[in-house]
Amino acid sequence: MFTPESILKSTFGYDTFKPLQREIIANVQARRDTLVIMATGGGKSLTYQVPALIFNGLTVVVSPLIALMKDQVEQLRALGVPALFINSSLSPEAYQENMDAVRRGDVKLLYVAPETLLTPRIFSLLSALKLDLLAIDEAHCISEWGHDFRPEYRQLAEVRKKFPSAVCMALTATATPRVRADIMSTLGFSQANEFQSSFNRENLFIEVLPKQNPVAQTLRFLQNFKDQSGIIYCFSRRQVDELADALAQKGFSVRPYHAGLEDSERHRNQEAFIRDDVQIIVATIAFGMGINKPNVRFVIHFDLPKNIESYYQEIGRAGRDGLPSHCLLLYSYGDASKIRYFIDQKEDPERSAAYQHLDAMTRYAEGSGCRRKPLLAYFGETFTSENCGTCDNCGSEQTTQVDITIPAQKFLSCVKRSGEKFGAAHVVDILLGSKNEKIEKYKHHELSTYGIGRELTKSQWMHIARQLVERGLLDQEPAYRVLSVTAKGLEMLKAREQVRGLINEPKRSERADSKIKSASAEEAEYDKSLFTLLRNKRKELADAAGVPPYIIFSDKTLAQMAAYFPQTKESLLNMSGMGRVKYERYGADFLTVIKAYCRENRIEEKFKAPARDKDDAGRRYMAVGEAYNEGDSIQNLMKRYDVTADTILNHLARFIMAGNPLRSAEDLIALSNLSPDQQMAVFKAFDTMGSDMLKPIYDKFNNTVNYDELRILRLCYLCEER
Ligand code: ADP
Ligand code: ZN
Repeated sequence: MFTPESILKSTFGYDTFKPLQREIIANVQARRDTLVIMATGGGKSLTYQVPALIFNGLTVVVSPLIALMKDQVEQLRALGVPALFINSSLSPEAYQENMDAVRRGDVKLLYVAPETLLTPRIFSLLSALKLDLLAIDEAHCISEWGHDFRPEYRQLAEVRKKFPSAVCMALTATATPRVRADIMSTLGFSQANEFQSSFNRENLFIEVLPKQNPVAQTLRFLQNFKDQSGIIYCFSRRQVDELADALAQKGFSVRPYHAGLEDSERHRNQEAFIRDDVQIIVATIAFGMGINKPNVRFVIHFDLPKNIESYYQEIGRAGRDGLPSHCLLLYSYGDASKIRYFIDQKEDPERSAAYQHLDAMTRYAEGSGCRRKPLLAYFGETFTSENCGTCDNCGSEQTTQVDITIPAQKFLSCVKRSGEKFGAAHVVDILLGSKNEKIEKYKHHELSTYGIGRELTKSQWMHIARQLVERGLLDQEPAYRVLSVTAKGLEMLKAREQVRGLINEPKRSERADSKIKSASAEEAEYDKSLFTLLRNKRKELADAAGVPPYIIFSDKTLAQMAAYFPQTKESLLNMSGMGRVKYERYGADFLTVIKAYCRENRIEEKFKAPARDKDDAGRRYMAVGEAYNEGDSIQNLMKRYDVTADTILNHLARFIMAGNPLRSAEDLIALSNLSPDQQMAVFKAFDTMGSDMLKPIYDKFNNTVNYDELRILRLCYLCEER
């Protein structure tokens, strides 16, 4: 009997489910149709792959992009899962071969393009088989309201009707409420089966810098990302070529990507990036749709994106593997005007919609609050945390807010008196008593507010103006950024309410990325030299197999190896992403590298605590601990949760470490095969050497007591100690 937990560990090599994965899988197992909305990197694929391995019959996955299909199939095959794809890219022979394999029942997951699924050949093939699950990836393509409508997707409703016994899943990373409703009704889903996870990408550090000398700023940024993969987005093809040349001249491994290049060159550059042969891609927004590369460590927006949605999608290409990644936007008024110029060539209503989008984008870039709030608000999500800790505004030393009532009043009345026809810069000129043509032309030196703001500098006034807009006291018209006082602003002036804010724009720390939260301190401080050796080994194996390196192992798996130095089969299997088949294929190669490195540098293996997380599976230790205290035996618990004794012992250890008492250790000590004398000796060793690290104790007994024993005895020890 396979359970989702056992498949997660043995096939995929992961300890715990990501948020909602477990619930979604349970829903699909119960054969209820399910809509999954998850941010990029949220782990959507696993939610149909795990049920696919549990069901007896076939799972069909519909996917619109041939490149992604191939990638998914490669990843599954590397995990030892029988998966294939059928689409128009196959030769007639390969097509027939794959059809035959499916017919023989040799395949668990079949990936197809929607138009392929609709052909009579595939239709009759599938009709002869037991189809258990139909998973529709990129499901927003079903909706005409979506940004990527595909007419073939519409016909999937018919396919679904032809296979009434198959449970159906629709998955997407982007869906407005309208698109969501459209997917549900087209496929005939009921409301109750919708799962949506947060759009917050915790591992992304988000930063906006005023664009001053963008090439120098980019070079400075790149110093922190030696040998790492990243994408730099530019507005125009020309800019892409120029920047790529400039970086190449500085010795960076970089390629351009834009619609002006030959297809073959574009493809070659993308492939080189995916295979880690090239480190940086400088691209127009056309880059990234069909790629799944999980170890993109940074995304730079060299120019301002057109709207928040594309910005979010583009930064979303960083850090799919969950490791800390950095997103930098270089922002200038000039860029906004450039986009405004293009918008002006359009006609309404397109034109005014584009202005609104741009306005939201500039507001975001100029904002002084947490970056996550406006980003998530765009997707209808409220981010409530006071300080996210991983954006520039939260990471910078935010000076405490002060009373800015007087400057606020001066600014608002100056906007009012100049007739609400001007942008912030001109209002500031009036306040500062500047002499220029525009002031004279409009006779603004005759206003009572002329020159009443000389106590502050121009940039301080601009910063105050932004805060007044953010707080809704001023309104900023999108096209020409003309300011007007809102009802709320008038109210504030009349009632003389206090306004608090910042006089100075907060200084941003240059190396804000050092504050990035990480899964654990140990993993953040992995051994960089060992990581490089492991990465080289991965590249060598990947090239030999003709696949991208991440198909072999993710960066996260390598980082864990370089943090814990596993030297046995057991501890290597404990690394995230180390499934059974991957261990069999590559385990020995990596163990050799790790062992040699540790021998040379006299480094010992470190104990990896079981993963901590917030979802249900992550809290299982509580349930296990409580059941044990109520009298359940280890054997019973193993059966109930369908896990090994090891897992139960780990749960109990966590239960104790979380400060809970455990009933007598008798049951536990019965698991030990050592003599009472030997057991006493181990306990004494814990007394003198501590029980955090098992390796020193293992060494002390000259390998005569194995790690399983040590784990059992440590648990008894902790239990008695309480
Ligand atoms: P999405 O399709 O939602 O963008 P993926 O399915 O590609 O996300 O998953 C993103 C990454 O997270 C992949 O590298 C995947 O292997 C990894 N992943 C998925 N589920 C888990 C899990 N439970 N624990 C650890 N890593 C996971
Ligand atoms: Zn923040």
